[in-house]
Formats: sequence, structure tokens, C-alpha cells
Amino acid sequence: MTHPAPIPGGPLIRTRDLCKIYSLQDGTGDDTVDTQVLFDVSLAIDRGEFVAIMGHSGSGKSTLMNLLGCLDTPTSGHYWLEGHDIAALSDDDLARVRNRSIGFVFQGFNLLRRMTALDNVAAPLLYAGSTRAQARSRARELLERTGLGRFAAHQPTQLSGGQQQRVAISRALVNNPPLILADEPTGNLDTQTSHEIMAIFEQLNREEGITVVLVTHEDDIAARARRLIRLQDGRVVHDGGIGA
Ligand code: ADP
Ligand code: MG
Repeated sequence: MTHPAPIPGGPLIRTRDLCKIYSLQDGTGDDTVDTQVLFDVSLAIDRGEFVAIMGHSGSGKSTLMNLLGCLDTPTSGHYWLEGHDIAALSDDDLARVRNRSIGFVFQGFNLLRRMTALDNVAAPLLYAGSTRAQARSRARELLERTGLGRFAAHQPTQLSGGQQQRVAISRALVNNPPLILADEPTGNLDTQTSHEIMAIFEQLNREEGITVVLVTHEDDIAARARRLIRLQDGRVVHDGGIGA
């Protein structure tokens, strides 16, 4: 596999003029209506940053996260992740970069219901070709790290929301990614549990240098980040310190 050499040393994430337009069928099914939901988003996020993205519902937060996570492609604009020009990668290379570089955490946890916590965390390693023993040993280590070692044999329905999110965070860490993208990771959790989950992200950021970019609705959650990006109607209207 050949792909363009990444530019070393630059920011972890760099975007220039990212735009996203969704085309939807109109009511009659004969025509499409274009709706632009992101406008010229240009950002640089360095290694080790802890960034909160805020904005009203529908302001484009998840759309932006999906682009940053290489789960979707922009209509126009550029995106470099760890120096890789994402648009220039083949599907295989893109999948490789995504698996190696990004851990995803979602509001709804996205765990497999019939599997134990341990197997949920081990699953991505098994898909990637690890032996069962290797995968399980690594999964156990990651569950210990998020404080869930004792619950390895529990299935998601036997865990609280906060515990399920810890499993999801453990799973996000399996490939040692430099970046965690979390879309409203505390959206389904009570205040106390939300702060416990935030403490885990803070620890990963502070102690392991993992870059954290998370979407939240709550001011007190965002206040724990060091940088705030605010979206309004698909545009970045604030990028800087907390408290604006
Ligand atoms: P947020 O996460 O800030 O609530 P989203 O990024 O989910 O906002 O959505 C931004 C806008 O894009 C909304 O108006 C939404 O309806 C629209 N949108 C999101 N996903 C799609 C899609 N797959 N197709 C069409 N429109 C979409
Ligand atoms: Mg959203």
C-alpha cells in the first residue's frame, strides 16, 4: 500500500473550509433539496488538547464530529489527520488511519447487548486479527483502567449507564489512539456520573497525552475542557477559552 507521506510534526487535526451539504428528496420524490449544515470550518487541534464543542441542537456538532472521525466525507474543503490528507487516502488506508488514530465514544454507548463487557472491549482487537487470549488480556487491562475490572463478565443490561460508558471508553482505547472523539458522551447520564466520566477523559488527557474532543450541551461539562468551540447554524462562532 502506498499513500502520500504524512507531514510530521503538524497539528493532530487540521481542517480548511470544511463544508457539508445534505441533499434530500423533496416531498414529491422528483427533486432534491440541498441543505448546507457546515460552512467553511477551519480548525487546528494540537496533540494533547482538550476541546469541548458546544452549540444548539441542529447546529452541526455531530456532522462535524463525523467528518473529524472520517465516518463521513465533506462536500468541500480539506481535512488532514496526523498530517494525512484524508481525501487522498484509499478506503483501506482510511480505515487503517481511522482505526489506529481515533477512539469513538457515543451518547448511546453503542455496546453489543449479548456480549460481556470484556468481549465488547475485545471485539475490535479480534476483528483486527489478535488471538482471543491477547484480546482478552488487553481488554481486561483497559477495563481496569476505567475502574470496571470487577464487571468484566457483566452484559450491558446488567450495568448502569455510567458503567456502560466506561466499557465504551475502554473499547475506544484498544488501539492506543492519540485522539478520542466523544459525541455527547454524558448526554444520557446524571450529573454525578457525568462528572465521573469527565474525570476519566481528563485523566487520559493529562496522564497519557490523549487528545480529547467532546460535544456537550452542558456548561459545567464544557467548563472542564481547556478550549471551547461553539457552533451556530453550521459556523464556528467562538474558538478559544472557556467562558464565552
Ligand atoms: P447537532 O449534532 O448539532 O444537533 P447535526 O450535525 O446532527 O446537529 O445536524 C445538523 C443539521 O444537519 C440538522 O439540521 C440535521 O437535520 C441535518 N442532518 C444531519 N444529518 C443529516 C443527514 N444524514 N441527512 C440530512 N440532513 C442531516
Ligand atoms: Mg448531535
